[in-house]
Amino acid sequence: MLDPGHQRRGNNEPEPVGPDTRETKAKVSSGTTGVSTKKPEYVLNLEVSLLLRDELQRRGFEVAMTRETHDVDLSNKQRAEMSNEAGAALTVRIHADGDGSASTRGFSVLYPSPSVAATKPIAAESKEAASFMLAGLQAATGQKGRGLSAREDLSGFNWSKVPVVLAEIGFMTNPEEDKRMSEADYQQQLVQGMADGIERFLAGK
Ligand SMILES: [Zn+2]
Repeated sequence: MLDPGHQRRGNNEPEPVGPDTRETKAKVSSGTTGVSTKKPEYVLNLEVSLLLRDELQRRGFEVAMTRETHDVDLSNKQRAEMSNEAGAALTVRIHADGDGSASTRGFSVLYPSPSVAATKPIAAESKEAASFMLAGLQAATGQKGRGLSAREDLSGFNWSKVPVVLAEIGFMTNPEEDKRMSEADYQQQLVQGMADGIERFLAGK
């Protein structure tokens, strides 16, 4: 399952962050915006996700998507439930980052923390998939990136019953990286790297 992050209109209604907590978060936020390209994050996320879908299909994988248009209203919990219902072997959430400093740059791959009871059963496999994807991104782009990050606070992780990772492909608040992420050559490198990591993970299943 590929989940292109965000959508045209965010939805600020609260929903529980996970089954074990009373804490709530917005159903789905509107994401960041490219400082150079002025492109909204939800547009970049879908562009890259569609390329990744095509690449994975070319390699023979069955791919489902949480959204293929911008005009949806899907909370992060609902997106996780789509993966659960599909019995996905892996969910890959595609996002781009934002930061207060324009110099912050680089991709990272997030996975659910083993310290959250709800995601304990999927934490180890998710981390494995995340580390393969990080290695794939590093090899395909020649960049080190920012590494792996275990997260306790993401609704899209905490409601998942299947292994799940979230690729932050770079910073839209960094003028150069923002431009690069919209270039066809660089998008292809990102897609190759992620597909290599996904293929390596699924080959072990
Ligand atoms: Zn995002």
